[in-house]
Amino acid sequence: MKNNNAGPEKQSAFAYLDRNADQVALLSDNLFWFGEPSLQEYESAALLVDVLETAGFNVEKGISGFDTGFLATSGSGSPVIALHAEYDALPENSQKPGVLKKDAIVEGAPGHCEGHHANATVMVASALALKHAMEAHGVEGTLKVFGSPAEELALSRPYFVRDGYFDDVDLAFHNHIGMDFHTEYDVVQIGCLTADFTFHGETAHAGLAPWRGRDALDAVVLMDVGLAQFREHMEPTMRAHRVITHGGTQPNIIPDKASVWWMFRHPEATGVRTLFDQARSIAEGAALMTNTRLEVNVRSAVWPLRCNQTMANVTQKNIEAVGMPEWSDEEQAFAREVQKAAGAPVEGLLKQVTPLTGPGPMIGASNDCGDISWKVPMGRVWFPASVPGVSFHNWTAGIPLTSSIAHKGTLAGAKAMTGAALDFFMDTALVEDAKRTFKTELDGIAYEPMLPADQQPDLTVNKDLMARFREPMQAHYLSEKPRFA
Ligand SMILES: [Zn+2]
Repeated sequence: MKNNNAGPEKQSAFAYLDRNADQVALLSDNLFWFGEPSLQEYESAALLVDVLETAGFNVEKGISGFDTGFLATSGSGSPVIALHAEYDALPENSQKPGVLKKDAIVEGAPGHCEGHHANATVMVASALALKHAMEAHGVEGTLKVFGSPAEELALSRPYFVRDGYFDDVDLAFHNHIGMDFHTEYDVVQIGCLTADFTFHGETAHAGLAPWRGRDALDAVVLMDVGLAQFREHMEPTMRAHRVITHGGTQPNIIPDKASVWWMFRHPEATGVRTLFDQARSIAEGAALMTNTRLEVNVRSAVWPLRCNQTMANVTQKNIEAVGMPEWSDEEQAFAREVQKAAGAPVEGLLKQVTPLTGPGPMIGASNDCGDISWKVPMGRVWFPASVPGVSFHNWTAGIPLTSSIAHKGTLAGAKAMTGAALDFFMDTALVEDAKRTFKTELDGIAYEPMLPADQQPDLTVNKDLMARFREPMQAHYLSEKPRFA
């Protein structure tokens, strides 16, 4: 690490991270082995809260009704800078780290095959380093740390924003595991809305008197046909995908209830709304054709994700100052083995950070922190804790997640985010500049939540799954917990 030209505040923060490097790795590994899917991150949230409370943060648990969400605060006054990140794993993604073939830790169980455990680690390690340096050097300001559940369901952060948790925030940082070390600006991820369309009919004996039934599954099928026809008229940037979550019980009973879970995406919030409104009309038509009643439940609704250019410039300087970790020959060899297993180009790990050359690029995934990025200026650090070429949500992405590659990349990410946040804490003119460029970037678009005002999160998702797998997964939890000093 170069760490050159850093002032005493930054040197103090980096020294804190360096002397706690083993604890950062241990925090990351603990979260990896918890492997908890969306809304079931009980162990993960408890450990993160414990680490933050031990370091002196004030923690509000269960924010916006999410059992596994939290807000940890330190310091006082202006500016108010927020860090936010996720820590959820994915169903069916259990994979033994370090093993080069598909081999589940617990067969059929959830697990980390992207690396959100590393995202939360960067967030909390940065928070501890910032608190340490700010107190040691009398740097003013309020640091807020948002534990954000269920990113993989695009769920929690629109609720935080809707419920006013970002009303007093000046700017916010997100971070994400990646293959390279970079930052970005402009609209970089698309918005999405997900909703259940449930149809209610009437059961009947399907052989004796089918004419007495009103078939809810027919309505699901007709909605599907309607949306398939509509695809010809969709804008090329619109995306719609679905799974049928309930289709009846057995074929000799006309189903009186059937549900389909749709996800609608577009690079603009208005486009997401247009697509959702059209889908709702199609669903109403399907209900009309089948004499069923339609019920629509919005699960989540997130704006596209934009990053602020001022924050990107500051973040880029910090990424360049920290520099790419120096990878050993063993790490390069291991990365190439992972790439072989993933069927990816066998090129090893990147040796240089990625320059910031212009806006974007935009990726076709959504992230539930999109709403934050229209409420306040937001910056992001992509840190190199994974291996280039692996496919997220696939077992190969799980292989490197407890390796020294992951640990070094996570520490580098924490340094870059800490450095960037410190630059804003120490220079209020820079905060004002981010707000000014943010206003220009919004180009007159006024943010208002897409999430219905009275919507409450459904916390039962993945509950049955974890009831099945919690116990066999517990056998793999690490006994040693991180202690930062
Ligand atoms: Zn992610």
